[in-house]
Amino acid sequence: MCGIIGVVGRGDETLDVVLDGLSTLEYRGYDSAGVALSTPGLDVQKRAGELENLRDAIDAGETAPAGSVGIGHTRWSTHGPPTDANAHPHVDESGGVAVVHNGIIENYQALRDELASEGVTFDSDTDTEVVPHLVSRALGDGLDPEAAVRNALDRIEGSYAIAVVLADEERVFAARNDSPLVLGVGEDATYLGSDVPAFLEHTRDVVYLDDGEFAVLDPDGWRVTDADGTPVEKSVTTVDWSAEQTGKSGYDHFMLKEINEQPTALRQGLSGRLDELAGRVTVDQLDGLSTPGRIQFVACGTSYHAALFGVEALRSAGIPAQAFLASEYATGPAPVTDDTLVVGVTQSGETADTLSALREADARGAETLALTNVVDSTAARECDHVLYIRSGPEIGVAATKTFSSQLVALSLFTAELAERDGADSRELVAALRDLPNHLQHVLDESNAEAVVDEYLGSESYFFIGRGSAYPVALEGALKFKEITYEHAEGFAAGELKHGTLALVTDETPVFAVVTGDDERARKTIGNVKEVEARDAPVVAVTDGASDVERYADAVLSVPETHPRTAPVLANAQLQLVAYHMANRLGRSIDRPRNLAKSVTVE
Ligand code: GLU
Repeated sequence: MCGIIGVVGRGDETLDVVLDGLSTLEYRGYDSAGVALSTPGLDVQKRAGELENLRDAIDAGETAPAGSVGIGHTRWSTHGPPTDANAHPHVDESGGVAVVHNGIIENYQALRDELASEGVTFDSDTDTEVVPHLVSRALGDGLDPEAAVRNALDRIEGSYAIAVVLADEERVFAARNDSPLVLGVGEDATYLGSDVPAFLEHTRDVVYLDDGEFAVLDPDGWRVTDADGTPVEKSVTTVDWSAEQTGKSGYDHFMLKEINEQPTALRQGLSGRLDELAGRVTVDQLDGLSTPGRIQFVACGTSYHAALFGVEALRSAGIPAQAFLASEYATGPAPVTDDTLVVGVTQSGETADTLSALREADARGAETLALTNVVDSTAARECDHVLYIRSGPEIGVAATKTFSSQLVALSLFTAELAERDGADSRELVAALRDLPNHLQHVLDESNAEAVVDEYLGSESYFFIGRGSAYPVALEGALKFKEITYEHAEGFAAGELKHGTLALVTDETPVFAVVTGDDERARKTIGNVKEVEARDAPVVAVTDGASDVERYADAVLSVPETHPRTAPVLANAQLQLVAYHMANRLGRSIDRPRNLAKSVTVE
């Protein structure tokens, strides 16, 4: 996920329009930034780090990039660390083709090998760089610029929003597949953005591109065609957003935006990692990992809940696993054997408690793996292995999409290890493939807001579940208290009766997570009956496989799916419960009091 901007028709102001557009998109990615301006020639400038570094480099240079056509990019690395060379735009060997890209090119390695065997030299570690070389080769074969770009797009697989400029060409070419791209229609200029804020100060008239569409921006305006070149009728919409809403794409809060981004985040996390034909997972980043005898997770907060899910998944596959609170691990006894792998689950890769637990694990002789969202973060650099969850940047302090992406990455991790032992992943692979669509369905159809209205002002809120619904209950309660400031607690469903039942009254709604219809589900239903007998209102989060609805006062539905994917769906309902409750209470949802996004103290 990253920010893209493009513009045609602003003459001498092109560089300013591109840089200002990038500053409104920095929330989409901020590990490097770059611009390419065309006509005459093609000028490219790019720098690792925040946009400020690029501005400084441009200010310090003798000549700023110049031209009447421009594209720009803020990067959120997926392939290769954030360095000057890996920053976008990427160019071909002649320096005549520049490309910015958001997403992941799944078949880049095969294309890179093919191009390298033809003598092409690569300057970066990115998947993106194959594109300018492919365009250049097509131009060399005699294709005109538009045909050359289309030809390159025909060769790539994966998710992308792409913009291309060529030397001495007063056009921007753009295309999308599974990554957002939108045109801005001005009076004398046309803009391109991965999100509307990129050009909102210049125009409110926008055209949303759909998957498979190809756009050409030139001094006469814009046109959109499908992948085969057939013109597509597009309508122009006028957006009516306040300045404060802009970075939030029209959502009131980043948290709600990020909850709604989850289907896209999961697609990115799964991209290139499922072999549907073979019914296997293919996680390249785990290729060098020797098969561990046992696994210890270290994590904090939401990531600890993901780790508990990982434990459940691994144990179900017959692989011994434990989860430790990172803050307890470093100072406590944790038996490490020669074949122990310690996995640090940390969204930011900078969480001090988790880093210190990982360092302790290393000192105890364990192999270490970082499961993180941030490429080249401290955990990623210090561990022996890394598995990126690829959620894209998360701005809201309360983690939402990164938790879902962690669960998916842990399912992939478990399946990869289990397959080494001959396990069959066919059903899981199918469920993971369907998960983004199922999640979209949950988000579209959720009645969480109405449920919240019903139980607003209660004394306490309890969340219960068993097996992999247990971490969902813990996470549901944590999210709830984090942003509503109301008292909430999560429990393994069987534990409630061992004490906390004393607090259960008709003033304490109980959210029961019950998916599937196995013995655990049936036992949780027994616990539901216990709280019902104490007059507590029950909200069932369920796929309808069991008869829990009979005992519930309200139901939050999720599609029936696989035991590894059901928690992601159930959790989405509880994210929405927390969000709408906090919204009703007027809380500071994106920046809850006393909390910070990445906790860098122990
Ligand atoms: N996969 C590309 C890279 O790592 C694009 C990442 C992005 O969307 O910013 O450079």
